[in-house]
Formats: sequence, C-alpha cells, structure tokens
Amino acid sequence: MGCGNKTDGAAPDQTRPSCLDCVEKHLGAALVLLSELREGYRYRLLIIGHLHEAAEESQAWPDISRHIRAARRRFQASGAVPDFAAIGKMIEDSRAKTRKPPAEPPRVPLTPEVEP
Ligand SMILES: [Zn+2]
Repeated sequence: MGCGNKTDGAAPDQTRPSCLDCVEKHLGAALVLLSELREGYRYRLLIIGHLHEAAEESQAWPDISRHIRAARRRFQASGAVPDFAAIGKMIEDSRAKTRKPPAEPPRVPLTPEVEP
C-alpha cells in the first residue's frame, strides 16, 4: 500500500498509487537489509519484496520502474547488488522536473499605512 499521497506523475494503467517518497522508503529498506546480508541469507525474500514494492510504486515514472524491476530481477537471479546511487539520481532528476515553482508571495506594503 502507498502512504496516501496522490500520484504526482501520470500513469493511467498503474495498479497502485505511485509515490517517490514510498519508492525511496522501499529502496532504503532493501539497502539496509542488503548491508546485513553478510550475517546470513535470511533477508533475501524481504529484499526482493521491497524492490518489488519500489517498482510497483514508481509506475508513474516508467524509466525508474523498469530500472528497479531489472535490478530486482538481477538480484534474484545472481545476487547482484542494485545500483542504488543511479536509481537515487533518477528519482532526484524526476523530482526536479516535476517540482512546481514556488507560489508568489502575498503582496503586502513594505511600510505600514499610517492613518492621517
Ligand atoms: Zn508515499
């Protein structure tokens, strides 16, 4: 499930809400678990699950979603560690593209009007 944020990308055929914050959350969880893999291999399924969730919740950004899905498949097949830095950069770039300009500040006089 998503966090309740509305999708800020466009994907009419997506199966669930897309949210870059949630994508980062799942990628971060996968990264933490990967760092603990040396202690054993019991996190394999959790890592696969988080990468799957990240791919699902990034469907509004097809390039990011495809990249994460491919990374998940490589990890599943060979244990290859995903390039988290590259994915993080894609998310950052996507955010920069969709960021709206700041709202105009309200027009207020610089000096208070004095009653005569
Ligand atoms: Zn979210």
